[in-house]
Amino acid sequence: MKIMKFGGTSVGKPERMHQVKDLIIHGKEKKIVVLSALSGTTNALVGISDALAAANKELAKERIDTLHQHYQVFYKDLLQSEAGRSKAEKIIKEHFEFLNIILKISFNEAISRDILAQGELLSTKLFYTLLQELDIPAVFLPALDFMSIDENAEPELKKISEKLKIILANYQEENIFVTQGYICKNHRNEVDNLKRGGSDYSASLIGAAISADVVEIWTDIDGMHNNDPRIVDKTRPIAQLSFDEAAELAYFGAKILHPASIWPAQQYNIPVKLLNTMEPNALGTTITSKELGTGVKALAAKDGITAIKIKSSRMLLAYGFLRKVFEVFEKYKTSIDMITTSEVAVSVTIDDLSHLNEIVRELETYGLVEVDKNQTIISVVGNLIAESKGTLANIMDSLTDIPIRMVSYGGSRHNVSLLVDAKYKNTALQNLNIGLFQW
Ligand code: ASP
Ligand code: MG
Repeated sequence: MKIMKFGGTSVGKPERMHQVKDLIIHGKEKKIVVLSALSGTTNALVGISDALAAANKELAKERIDTLHQHYQVFYKDLLQSEAGRSKAEKIIKEHFEFLNIILKISFNEAISRDILAQGELLSTKLFYTLLQELDIPAVFLPALDFMSIDENAEPELKKISEKLKIILANYQEENIFVTQGYICKNHRNEVDNLKRGGSDYSASLIGAAISADVVEIWTDIDGMHNNDPRIVDKTRPIAQLSFDEAAELAYFGAKILHPASIWPAQQYNIPVKLLNTMEPNALGTTITSKELGTGVKALAAKDGITAIKIKSSRMLLAYGFLRKVFEVFEKYKTSIDMITTSEVAVSVTIDDLSHLNEIVRELETYGLVEVDKNQTIISVVGNLIAESKGTLANIMDSLTDIPIRMVSYGGSRHNVSLLVDAKYKNTALQNLNIGLFQW
């Protein structure tokens, strides 16, 4: 069994949906097709939900109508038969009626999550209608019947696995299953989701739940690149990555894969392939447990970072100081990315600023606190780079003209991270590209 996940751009246009259809009917093996919402839809749904949260029903209505229009055009290009079109019309009518009813009732968080779920429900139902129109046998698998998260919003992999296996056992002969990414039920049995970009996570969880042979993530680029192609001219796809390397790259900014989607695949040792819907024969990137080659493989950058420095002479020769500092972050459920220490100061970085003021106030009881916003973490990733000769010197040589705020070296054997002011990000990535890949 394989999992094939298609992102928003892969289903965002009628002709793309047709390409997806071509890809999934290829080969006889069983596959679960996981779809995102059409590109732009989840953003639009967030806009509707935000307008309702601000009690601006007029704006919400306007946004619902604009989105509705989009689907009215979409299905006519997608489907040709009268039966197919009338089915699609019914589907679209049902979901937009739902949105319009929400306009009339009082808004809350659970309703907001219901709104966000409409995108994947629509994309999968329309895609399934296309398969029916073309007489392609397939099974529609509602994700809400098996995908669930617990009270800490963590996926319940064991439960998901049990439920999914029972459902699939009913379909011995069928080969194609279509389900939604992103959406799930929570511990209150309400509709919930795996956070933005969570369809990759769904695919990986489903892969782990049924011990799939492979999880394929189909997007609009030919794999994970060795640098950010939006910023650096000469980048190339990386054929092979280990789970650890991929996790570092995904976490530190490579937009192609949701970082959380690594662990289920890694835990159950299921290869993940990153493939291009527009160029299906391109090699893409294969992520497995194998650690191949040594030296630098790729760079990634993560924006929106804030550095916090706590300076205290009380830290000198004292123990337990770091614990106190970390407890403040733990209390506010704010995770730390980078950390560097000296005898009298510690610097950490965070990307979630929702509790910055409280955190700073509490840290001030331990020493002098300085906050630098608008920082970028540049991560250099590769197998055993911490041990490969000359790598650190190369990195530093490439960045001679750029002030470096923090360096993290040796935290793992496949990552060196640097913190720079965001204004130096592009130059840093370009210079490192030349220095590390000779381009
Ligand atoms: N549709 C959701 C989003 O845009 C989930 C996904 O596409 O991965 O965030
Ligand atoms: Mg995505």
